[in-house]
Amino acid sequence: MQVPLKLQLFAIKPQPANTPVNGKCEKVNKDDLINEDDRNLHKIVCRRCKSVIFPEDVVMTVDNQPYQLRVMTHQGKGAPSFEKISWWWYTESDMVFDTVGWQTIDKKKVLMCGDCELGPIGFRSEDNKKFWVAVERVKYEKS
Ligand SMILES: [Zn+2]
Repeated sequence: MQVPLKLQLFAIKPQPANTPVNGKCEKVNKDDLINEDDRNLHKIVCRRCKSVIFPEDVVMTVDNQPYQLRVMTHQGKGAPSFEKISWWWYTESDMVFDTVGWQTIDKKKVLMCGDCELGPIGFRSEDNKKFWVAVERVKYEKS
């Protein structure tokens, strides 16, 4: 039986913590990320497990939208410090995600890698209709 996409979006596979990675933003060059339609040129993947978060050509960036996110850890555990982020991949459709999970941390709905549970990679609005993924907390994979 096919699992509806909605259910996949909200399901997080339990997996043991593996390789530690840098939980903070890592600089990327905007010119390397955007195609002629102003959407993502490459697949957007998890920094740790390379699970695909967005396929190519589905999201646009927004800038100057400051928001505090905890530094990424496995399942968002521990009490890591905050990082102010203002550059995001933004969408109003949960259908464009390939794989993503979510958790509530500090009463905020944050987005996690749907496979290895590294996060938060981003956050979503209270009504679940808007999604922001930090441009500099993910990796890019040329196909
Ligand atoms: Zn992952």
